[in-house]
Amino acid sequence: MSTLIVATHNSHKTEEIAALLADHFALITDLTQQSNADDHPAPEETGNTFEANALIKALDASTRFPDATILADDSGLEVDALAGAPGVYSARYAGPDASDADNRKHLLFALDGVARRTARFRCVLILVKNGQVLVTCDGSCEGHIAKEESGSGGFGYDPLFIPEGHTESFGTLPAETKNQLSHRAKALEKLKSWLTEN
Ligand code: IMP
Repeated sequence: MSTLIVATHNSHKTEEIAALLADHFALITDLTQQSNADDHPAPEETGNTFEANALIKALDASTRFPDATILADDSGLEVDALAGAPGVYSARYAGPDASDADNRKHLLFALDGVARRTARFRCVLILVKNGQVLVTCDGSCEGHIAKEESGSGGFGYDPLFIPEGHTESFGTLPAETKNQLSHRAKALEKLKSWLTEN
């Protein structure tokens, strides 16, 4: 078993990934834990798809840590009534320096008076080593956008996202439930199968 570096500064993502991949790696860490964490700016996510942006993050981290196994996650929210927005712009929906709270406020404003609130989270994971892509996995999670925030669990749009089959948001549901249902959990299940077979 080896070390996995998750190519992110988002500790929530790392926690969710670590909860599901713990059996496969001796240590799961992320970019915030590296000694030169602040010296290297995050790469610009210029892709039009989650996969393109996951690859940008994966290859950038692999250049920094060539011998390490790297996992990049690019993910976001697609809202049907907004023609799939915010999509790849989920992290910066309310502007380049927007906080999660700003983005949620922006989304509630965009959906003000809108009855059709169906949406999904999507996630693409890319595993790389020495600059070579080993595997790409994806997952999605259907649900709808609540009219107001609830709960303080998770991150990002979780307090607004009610997964299909539930009446509470990911912000309110226990982390264990999110880790069974989420877009990231589904992509990680595929990755786990690949890791078991390879
Ligand atoms: P990324 O870090 O560029 O992949 O941006 C992902 C953005 O999508 C985050 O900043 C969140 O706004 C949103 N997002 C992705 N996954 C989740 C999730 O599991 N819960 C809530 N929001 C998420």
